[in-house]
Amino acid sequence: MINGELKVARPIRWAMVGGGRASQIGYIHRSAALRDNVFKLVAGAFDIDPERGRDFGLRLQVEAERCYGDYQAMFDAEAKRPDGIQAVSIATPNGTHFAICKAALHAGLHVVCEKPLCFTLAEAQELRALAEAKGRIVGVTYGYAGHQLIRQARAMIANGDLGEIRIINMQFAHGFHSEAVEGANPSTQWRVDPRFAGPSYVLGDVGTHPLYLSEVMLPALKIKRLLCSRQSFVKSRAPLEDNAFVMMEYEGGAVGTLWASAVNAGSMHGQKIRVIGSKASLEWWDEHPNQLIYEVQGKPAQVLERGMDYLYPDALEDDRIGAGHPEGLFEAWSNLYYRFALAMEAMDKGDAALAGTLGIPDIEAGCEGVRWVENCVRSADLGATWVDYA
Ligand code: NAD
Repeated sequence: MINGELKVARPIRWAMVGGGRASQIGYIHRSAALRDNVFKLVAGAFDIDPERGRDFGLRLQVEAERCYGDYQAMFDAEAKRPDGIQAVSIATPNGTHFAICKAALHAGLHVVCEKPLCFTLAEAQELRALAEAKGRIVGVTYGYAGHQLIRQARAMIANGDLGEIRIINMQFAHGFHSEAVEGANPSTQWRVDPRFAGPSYVLGDVGTHPLYLSEVMLPALKIKRLLCSRQSFVKSRAPLEDNAFVMMEYEGGAVGTLWASAVNAGSMHGQKIRVIGSKASLEWWDEHPNQLIYEVQGKPAQVLERGMDYLYPDALEDDRIGAGHPEGLFEAWSNLYYRFALAMEAMDKGDAALAGTLGIPDIEAGCEGVRWVENCVRSADLGATWVDYA
């Protein structure tokens, strides 16, 4: 149970790049990082507009001299301070992640980076090599991976409760961009422009989320080949897709599908994962995150509730309040952030082994997301053909 007791020796001195006043995702980074006092926000380059960023930083109670106009100026100045930053979160549009992450690692900082980590697998591997060489953590914010019922699903699958795994059915299919809303919304505008979003829209923007949940639940699963078909229903978005279907074959005989969409009209989020085994199935839906549906063939369906003592110990460790009260995205992110902090502290002590046991979406998760998108785009652009997973 999490009760607010400090989990690290002292809060990690932390900064943000991006996540400015009007950003979609900046607040949840701060909320999650600061919630359990494992990080302390001491600096930032919060905005592409330096003045707006400085003004916002002051309103976040960051000292004036530590509200920077750009990230490189921040890394240079902070490196000269005895109380300089130790970690940075990157919450900027996709096209900037690689350069900022690289610069942060060169500055010797631990990093939490938004997904997708970068545009190409070659870039991701470069970041991985750099993180290894520098002994730094790179965490990636697949937020719901921090939810306790995802850990429960992982434990149940490992325990054989589902039998042999046959099918994984995933989706993240919302309807918010069923029309060309990007004209009036800067946060959507860059998402449909390959210069800023990279080689894909919905595959990278939403598809990688349930993909990572499948990696958490089924760590041994390896994709053998896949087929992706992608469409731009709002024509101006081409070549980027606003809808995609992916079929996957895994080593060992299991199969999977993933539907990523921003044009599923009427759907709120529609992020779901259903894992089907030879004896039973599990289903989790982010719009009802506190319930995990467990269906054993031939028996009435069961609804497993977060916080109940019939869950595996792993799924109870991060509870913040008893069962019945909802915990959701904000708590899941906080769970990730406190684990990021523990991993960073462990690395600082040279304990890479401990850092590796914390179950965080790390540089490997970042690389895998980029790799999957790259393979999907290759298949789609070959006319939706099966491609061996490269
Ligand atoms: P946004 O456009 O709403 O906000 C981007 C912010 O970054 C703005 O404040 C902007 O001023 C700032 N910025 C841009 N370039 C900058 C630079 N070079 N230096 C400093 N600040 C800069 O975007 P968003 O929706 O918040 O998305 C940001 C990132 O977060 C994207 O990579 C996106 O994929 C990711 N995201 C992740 C999740 C998740 O669940 N993990 C959810 C939403 C967005």
